[in-house]
Order: sequence, then structure tokens, then C-alpha cells
Amino acid sequence: MDIILLGPPGAGKGTQAGRLEDEHGMIQLSTGDMLRAAVKAGTEVGLKAKALMEAGELVPDEVVSGIIGERLDELGPEQGVIFDGYPRTAAQATALDEILSARGRSLDHVIELVVDEDALVARITGRFTCGKCGEGYHDTFKQPAKEGICDVCGSSEFKRRPDDTEETVRTRMQEYRGKTAPILPIYETRGIVRKVDGMGSMAQVNDEIEAALAL
Ligand code: ADP
Repeated sequence: MDIILLGPPGAGKGTQAGRLEDEHGMIQLSTGDMLRAAVKAGTEVGLKAKALMEAGELVPDEVVSGIIGERLDELGPEQGVIFDGYPRTAAQATALDEILSARGRSLDHVIELVVDEDALVARITGRFTCGKCGEGYHDTFKQPAKEGICDVCGSSEFKRRPDDTEETVRTRMQEYRGKTAPILPIYETRGIVRKVDGMGSMAQVNDEIEAALAL
């Protein structure tokens, strides 16, 4: 099964994709994670992406579609994938159709995470992760049990994304509204969009997604 998780920045796509990976053996393909890794490694893609990401603007379509195609080629045909943060524009949606059909794959569902945009800025600007194992935390909603120590791996190194500032979040929201939300109708006409309320607890959202996917 191949699915897209669609929703504005901070809607919880990464969190939910992680759960589907853990519980159902799917693979999360997050273009944001791939681009951050490329920036860190200083690759050609990373050099192209860095300034755009820091400003909250989109990276060129060819760049992200290229890395998605490459990653898919590393996976077996039976391996179900979750597209997280991709596609983000109409051109990427078209590219994804081609990328999938060239590999004998097709989209089964698009999960639209419906969220209250006012709550998103608070969600995003408060979030941080363990620098060692990547566990996610939040200043208000999910502090580590022992201050300054990761619950999962015990590390005391935490990090915040450089684009999780209020100003950049606003640009990212505009990009979502202007370029990403308009691709939903493409999938609605195919009858594969499932709307899920993204404002519940992580477990509630997970339950709703599983019900929508009939897992
Ligand atoms: P979020 O969903 O929280 O905004 P992501 O980690 O998905 O975060 O993306 C972070 C940044 O990476 C985006 O603001 C954008 O600059 C870049 N990016 C990620 N995916 C894409 C994509 N599909 N197309 C263009 N740019 C992308």
C-alpha cells in the first residue's frame, strides 16, 4: 500500500508516519528529512536546498522528485510507503504519478490531516528532538520525564530545526495554502482522499488513520 500524508506544517505528518512504520512495517519517505540530511552532508542537493529551507520556501520540484525516485528504487515492490511532505505542488503530484507508474506502483490513499492553523504555530515553535535518537518533544505538550534527559536513549543533547521560528512558519503556511492545498482536488476526483481530524491526541489521530486505511 502506498499512501500520502497531506497537511500543513506541524499537522503531525512525521509523528504519524513514524507510528505507521513501527506498527505496520511501512517506510516513511520524508522529503524534509532527506533534504535536512543532504544539507548536513553538504551534497549538491543540500547546497541547493539550504537557504530555501531556512526561509521556509519550497525547494525546486525537480530536486525533490529526483530524490524520491532514487529512494523508491532502493525498496522492493511489495514495500508499502508513506509519502510525508511530498508532493507539495501540482508539478510534484504529476511527477509522483509518473514515478509510481514507471515502477508498477500506484497510490492507494491520501490522508488529509485537518488541523486548526492557529494551533500550529504553537506546536511548531515549541518542538525539539533528541539529537541522538530523534525522539520528538515539545516545550508545552511533551517535556522529557526528567528535564534535559531523553526518555528513550538518555542523551542530554537536544536540537531545534532552524526553520521552526514564528516568521518562517508563517512563510511555510503560505506555501502550503498557495501551492500544496490546491493539489487536494486532483486526488478528490479520484476518490482516494480520507479526511482525518489532526487535532486529537497522537493516539487518537493514529486510530483514525488506521480506521481510514482499514488496517
Ligand atoms: P514541515 O512539513 O514541518 O514544513 P518538512 O520537514 O516537510 O516540514 O519540510 C521542511 C522544508 O523542506 C520545507 O519548508 C521546504 O523548504 C523543504 N521541502 C520539503 N519537502 C519539500 C517538497 N516536497 N518540495 C519542496 N520543498 C520541500
